[in-house]
Amino acid sequence: MKIGIDIDNVIANTYQDLYAFFDSFMKRKSDPHETIRIMRKHKIKMWFYFYKAWRQKVMTKVSLIDGAAETIQGWSKEHQIYLVTSRYPIFNRQTKWWLKEHKIPYWELHHAPETTKHLKVDRCDIFIEDNLDECEVLADHCERILLFDQPWNQKPIKQKNIIRVKDWEEIRKNI
Ligand SMILES: [Mg+2]
Repeated sequence: MKIGIDIDNVIANTYQDLYAFFDSFMKRKSDPHETIRIMRKHKIKMWFYFYKAWRQKVMTKVSLIDGAAETIQGWSKEHQIYLVTSRYPIFNRQTKWWLKEHKIPYWELHHAPETTKHLKVDRCDIFIEDNLDECEVLADHCERILLFDQPWNQKPIKQKNIIRVKDWEEIRKNI
């Protein structure tokens, strides 16, 4: 099978580990919804934020989400793993370093702006993702989408091939 997997907040605890860094950069406290809204609205400011994050190598310090590494290791023996992240390409080396450090095998690693991931890996049998907007686009290009449950994706799901999952144990049951 061809399995597409997002990195942030699916394999890596990015939001949980970096919100304090984000809040200190913005000099205000934001909940997850505000963080996403700010990131989408203030593109230029976000360039400075990501540049600072890159300089401080914060992406190399994020923790793993329970069960992700072992599950992907098991799948990699018989399936093709495509990691597709919306991180900016400047994080490519730090991302590869982090994946190697945590022994996460993959066939290909791609960077794609939000809602364009299908252009990197079309016709996946399964894609695991936490961004509901991305899932809605991917649902037209992939067989099944597993929406990784997060506070920012609580809107009702429209497409039948999008299934909400709460953790990696539930993901394994759905494969
Ligand atoms: Mg994500």
